[in-house]
Amino acid sequence: MKVRYYADAEVQSWHEHTIRLLRTIHDERGLSVEIDRIDERYSSITDFPGKIRYPTPEAVYERDLKRNRDLTERIDHRPSDAYKPYGNFDIAGNIALVDEEGTVQWASTLPGYADGYGPDAGPHTSLDFLEDIAISPSNRVCVECLQLLDGDETFCPNCGYEPP
Ligand SMILES: [Zn+2]
Repeated sequence: MKVRYYADAEVQSWHEHTIRLLRTIHDERGLSVEIDRIDERYSSITDFPGKIRYPTPEAVYERDLKRNRDLTERIDHRPSDAYKPYGNFDIAGNIALVDEEGTVQWASTLPGYADGYGPDAGPHTSLDFLEDIAISPSNRVCVECLQLLDGDETFCPNCGYEPP
């Protein structure tokens, strides 16, 4: 499993915090991290422990999000509503979980914290998600099959994996 950040988040503090969390997720959880810098707003990112690429939002949308059935099943929106509302790309700031085949299995639909989005927004936001998996990935996701978890499971109900 890989964690991919579509950068840069609109709010600079979110952007910087996202990068800090990705470093933690890499260093302490041993997960791969990478950045697709589709909208460069802030300074260059140095000493990042994963790949940094510079695709266009359109390329990312076509490759990762559009007509992605796995993703559509896991988020509450059609990808076009979440990432291309009214015909404009709205992807930067979100993060995605990518499986071994390179397919995005889940992506946040809110590029930041739940604050300001309402009480049920937490599971859909990038930073709440990253903070959870920086503490313990198995609270939120099975690192084997990318099944989303709610933190009470001792093993993954989808593939049976027991986190160490
Ligand atoms: Zn699993």
